Amino acid sequence: MSYVVIEGLRKTYGTSEVLSNIDMTIEKGEFVTLLGPSGCGKSTILRIIAGLTDVTSGAIKIEGKVINNMLPKKREVGMVFQSYALFPNMTVRENVAFGLKMKKIDRKEIDLQVEEMLAIVHLTDKVNAYPHELSGGQQQRVALARALIVRPKVLLLDEPLSALDAQIRKKLQADLRAIQMELGITMVLVTHDQEEAMAVSDKVFVMSKGEIAQRGTPTEIYTKPESEFIANFIGNYNVFSRKELEQMIGETLPGGCLKFAIRPEAIHLEAAPGDLKMNAIAKESVMNGNIIRTVFQEGNRLFSVEQLHHRGYSIELGKAYACFVAREDVIDLK
Ligand code: ADP
Ligand code: MG
Repeated sequence: MSYVVIEGLRKTYGTSEVLSNIDMTIEKGEFVTLLGPSGCGKSTILRIIAGLTDVTSGAIKIEGKVINNMLPKKREVGMVFQSYALFPNMTVRENVAFGLKMKKIDRKEIDLQVEEMLAIVHLTDKVNAYPHELSGGQQQRVALARALIVRPKVLLLDEPLSALDAQIRKKLQADLRAIQMELGITMVLVTHDQEEAMAVSDKVFVMSKGEIAQRGTPTEIYTKPESEFIANFIGNYNVFSRKELEQMIGETLPGGCLKFAIRPEAIHLEAAPGDLKMNAIAKESVMNGNIIRTVFQEGNRLFSVEQLHHRGYSIELGKAYACFVAREDVIDLK
């Protein structure tokens, strides 16, 4: 039996259905991500698990017990939001201690646990600071410590890193994953950032318009997109119709699917035995540091190629190239 189970969940507001028939299982100690574009229903699922929003139909279970009608504070579910929502007039220590104080834990015990938690989130030196004296990243660490200190069964995180700049976000992503593993806590992260989802999760649920479009490990989702939506959302895949691709490679492909996806990094300029070949003209090339991204054109069709920026790899715009891809890197889409 899974630790958290969502069965046949539907949510409507008036006549609009924002979640339709969601089934989801989460194991104990797993780091799960709900990934999808804005408005697809991610926050609504978190709010339903937390008990802040009612379901229209379906069941939410934690440890086998249906919690649909349980009060939010009885659920032992923690939540961290994009806005840090710290108490501005309390120090870091007081903010983090808050949940334990509410539980009337002994003062000495609280001090010990706060100290331990601040060490885990790397904020020991800020114990007496006030929120306004901290950076965004530090404030989010306080929010995390405050949520974790009461040892929730599940911690829900709604775009917690979205307001932070790229470098701090990357650091906090890595720390978040390390903390989750260290404490063995079950976490559900909501994000619209596919790189973030790939970087931290055991399992990803990709959502589209109130439904789960695909679920799997980051590797499964990235390497085996099932639909055009996933291919575009996850990896900048090149998506071709059967006709387009067959014209380009000059042969017919087996199977009945109408579309194919090819990852930009799966297309090479050096041939390997058995590769499919596409002749095309280099139109644009952008050097993003370690990656060189080139757009090639064949007829009306554009596709992109990404290669590591190694010595000797340079692209001449306007020149015709032969591009190669292994057959197994051509993915059938539903
Ligand atoms: P996400 O977090 O993926 O951006 P949300 O779960 O916040 O999406 O919202 C999903 C859909 O539900 C959106 O179309 C949103 O406008 C709608 N929605 C959310 N909350 C309410 C509400 N209280 N009343 C009406 N519609 C809502
Ligand atoms: Mg949201």
